[in-house]
Amino acid sequence: MASEDRRIRALKDAQKREENKRCADCTERLPNYIVLDFKTFVCTACSGIHREFSHRIKSVSLANFTDDEVRAIRKGGNRASNDLWLAKYDPDRDLPEPDGSSVEKRREFIRMKYQEKRWYATTEDLAREAEEQARRASARARNEEAR
Ligand SMILES: [Zn+2]
Repeated sequence: MASEDRRIRALKDAQKREENKRCADCTERLPNYIVLDFKTFVCTACSGIHREFSHRIKSVSLANFTDDEVRAIRKGGNRASNDLWLAKYDPDRDLPEPDGSSVEKRREFIRMKYQEKRWYATTEDLAREAEEQARRASARARNEEAR
């Protein structure tokens, strides 16, 4: 098999993973574009918005991908990306995840998510915060005992 075919096959495999069957940034199904900056699969409208923010976009069906890009996308995907970029996201409290009805809402969501890093955290950040909270809680408990 030519290496071109192998790359396309590998990408299609990644695209078929459950996590990648929905746009990384809205509720649209079967996204067909990849944001190389984040290794995510996104729908046509969201890919246009990412372009506005100068993120690199490629179409799964049209573009030529390098071996390195395919490897990165297979390792990445929507879950790994959203674990970072939506780490602190709470759908009940925060801006709701946009559906396919409004480009404006999607632009706002993508701006908050990636430009402002509103909900971004690494697992180390989260672990540190949990530790800090536990420390504060036990300090509070000690204070109450002393009373
Ligand atoms: Zn989308």
